[in-house]
Amino acid sequence: MTVGNDTNPLRIAIIGAGPSGFYAAESLFKSHLNVKVDVYDRLPTPYGLLRGGVAPDHQRMKSVAKAYERIAVSNPNFSFYGNVKIGKDISVDDLRNCYDALIFACGAETDKKLGIPGEDLPGSYTATEFVGWYNGHPDYQSRSFNLKCKIAYIIGQGNVSIDVTRILAKNDAELSESDITAVAQAALADSGIQEIHLVGRRGPAQSAFTELEIKEMGELEDAEPVVNPADIELNEASHLELEDEKNHKARKNMHILREFAALSPAGKKKKVVIHFFESPIELVGNGKVEAIRLVKNRLEGEPGNQKAIATDETIEMPCDMVFRSVGYRGIPIEGVPFDERRGVFPNTDGRLIKDDAPMYGMYAVGWIKRGPSGVLGSNKPCSAKTVETLISDIASLQFAPARSNEQLLEKLKNAGVDVVSFTEWQNIDALEVEAGQKVGKPREKITIVPELLAAAKTAVRS
Ligand SMILES: Cc1cc2nc3c(=O)[nH]c(=O)nc-3n(C[C@H](O)[C@H](O)[C@H](O)COP(=O)(O)OP(=O)(O)OC[C@H]3O[C@@H](n4cnc5c(N)ncnc54)[C@H](O)[C@@H]3O)c2cc1C
Repeated sequence: MTVGNDTNPLRIAIIGAGPSGFYAAESLFKSHLNVKVDVYDRLPTPYGLLRGGVAPDHQRMKSVAKAYERIAVSNPNFSFYGNVKIGKDISVDDLRNCYDALIFACGAETDKKLGIPGEDLPGSYTATEFVGWYNGHPDYQSRSFNLKCKIAYIIGQGNVSIDVTRILAKNDAELSESDITAVAQAALADSGIQEIHLVGRRGPAQSAFTELEIKEMGELEDAEPVVNPADIELNEASHLELEDEKNHKARKNMHILREFAALSPAGKKKKVVIHFFESPIELVGNGKVEAIRLVKNRLEGEPGNQKAIATDETIEMPCDMVFRSVGYRGIPIEGVPFDERRGVFPNTDGRLIKDDAPMYGMYAVGWIKRGPSGVLGSNKPCSAKTVETLISDIASLQFAPARSNEQLLEKLKNAGVDVVSFTEWQNIDALEVEAGQKVGKPREKITIVPELLAAAKTAVRS
């Protein structure tokens, strides 16, 4: 059989309609082949973490969705099948029966554990559930967060931690132009939080913030940043790291952190205290988090490879709630190899591998391919590389016996799965934007699956 030509397109299923899934679709459409791309997502809505992760007050970033929408609507060979979970509603074998190749773009949807006593006490949350809750992700709407308390600790110092800090620190007026859910906005407006502590195990020279995000900590209306001047005294190796040409990001962070350390108290309602050289060793409390025990660290190792080593010095600080933000992990799907240690689908240049052997016809992109790092744009070259691998494999692919997904759709219908098309997603989108406009927000998200499915059937577009 010849595929990829005018009469018999190469049939690809992409599992996950997040950024990496869209970039993979785009690369396939740009190839010299005739390709039919069907994108499946377990949610009725596309865009993955762009919708459910990226902070609601960063609307410029959210506007990237327009580029993804263009990929969907400008390619007649693109189809979206929302509300379909691969591994539950449809198996990987089902897909392989009707697609020549599968591209897994299913992200890293669970969290790494801290592995310390007290981690599961009430009052200790993952950043993922908090982010999902305020961003309207249906999985997290039943969660409740007791925000009527004073002191929050956030463990980890990546951009997700900064997002959580900023959402806790902003006042109602600052949040009112975002697309945070109405429920989250009301709970945050009523919160009693006065101190937000951001804890990092290494030093300021190793911090992983982006300059813009750390800078925003100094621009909040009701909150001021606090950095202990002793924490910005650098060891010799950190000085050398900062002198490295490639380390311009760390130099910029350092400059901002030095400015924060030199600030006099401004008497704002909330404080954002940025701690370095500390790791949590226990969450303490009787039935709920009441304190956090931290160990002081020192750095050891060569410049560029310094590790945090625990000292004998520990401190116990009062604390009402903790958000753990120390990284994400992928979730296995039956029929797909999984690297337990790294939490990814093992692959070489995007082609999955099982017992060291290449799996022609099975590929990965985005966070499930390379782990949970990198911004939206990092997924574009990552997906392009995988598509290049797939196309170079074409002679080794076993072409699918079924040349359509009709039987799959029939199976889903019989199982009562309400599949959402891209046009139906656009109905949801239009309703959300309309509801948002009424209250001066970019959108008011629909956060419950049955309501999303009902909205999908409501045509409001002219
Ligand atoms: C809290 C947070 C904030 C961020 N903020 C920014 C930012 O401001 N700027 C920036 O550039 N980057 C940001 N990022 C990074 C960016 O979101 C990621 O680089 C990007 O989303 C990764 O894309 P992905 O497609 O690999 O995964 P995802 O975006 O997670 O998409 C995976 C998709 O797969 C679907 N899926 C999962 N399992 C299945 C299954 N079994 N069947 C069907 N579908 C499935 C999911 O529903 C989801 O839609 C942020 C990340 C996080 C976590």
